[in-house]
Amino acid sequence: MNSTVREIKERLLSDLNTRLAEECRCTLKETATRAVPGVGSATAEILLIGEAPGKNEDLQGIPFVGAAGKFLDEMLASIGLEREDIYITNIVKYRPPDNRDPLPQEIEDCSEWLHEQIGIIDPLLIITLGRHAMNHFFPEKKITESHGKAFRREFPAGRNQVFFTLYHPAAALYNGGMRDTLKKDFLRIPQVLDKIQADK
Ligand code: URA
Repeated sequence: MNSTVREIKERLLSDLNTRLAEECRCTLKETATRAVPGVGSATAEILLIGEAPGKNEDLQGIPFVGAAGKFLDEMLASIGLEREDIYITNIVKYRPPDNRDPLPQEIEDCSEWLHEQIGIIDPLLIITLGRHAMNHFFPEKKITESHGKAFRREFPAGRNQVFFTLYHPAAALYNGGMRDTLKKDFLRIPQVLDKIQADK
């Protein structure tokens, strides 16, 4: 990726972050401390999408900084990646009160920013973490059947995007079986990326 493309994408993401904080219609804005837009490389091949910011994320404005974030960092390291190599965000950009599940309207109100992030970063692979992120793109799928699998979907219109669906690190953290499954599924990511590159 040449540096001009990188600079342009970084500028576009920085502009998006400013507009998101000022213009987002989501009512979660009223109770949250601040927006949590996303962090990482603007030219990442992998875009990870979680559910919603929690308490620590709300305080720091950075996604996945709590215990689930530490677990995620360990899994990234297991495939030779660091946070700087990927981009990470959530389907909703503000913390839901008491960490409740995001409501359909809140997901809808935040989706314009998520879709714009996807357009700017233009990732090779989108990895969804948990059922909320997965169901945003695949409303009919069940996480118990779909975890660890890759799917192609036209998203946005006219663009062929590969998705890889995983359990959410926070859900798996204290559930031994799910934790092992998530770690095993995570190890498949390099293989999925290689296949996308080979098919190009
Ligand atoms: N932290 C986040 O930023 N997102 C989640 O989905 C969970 C924890």
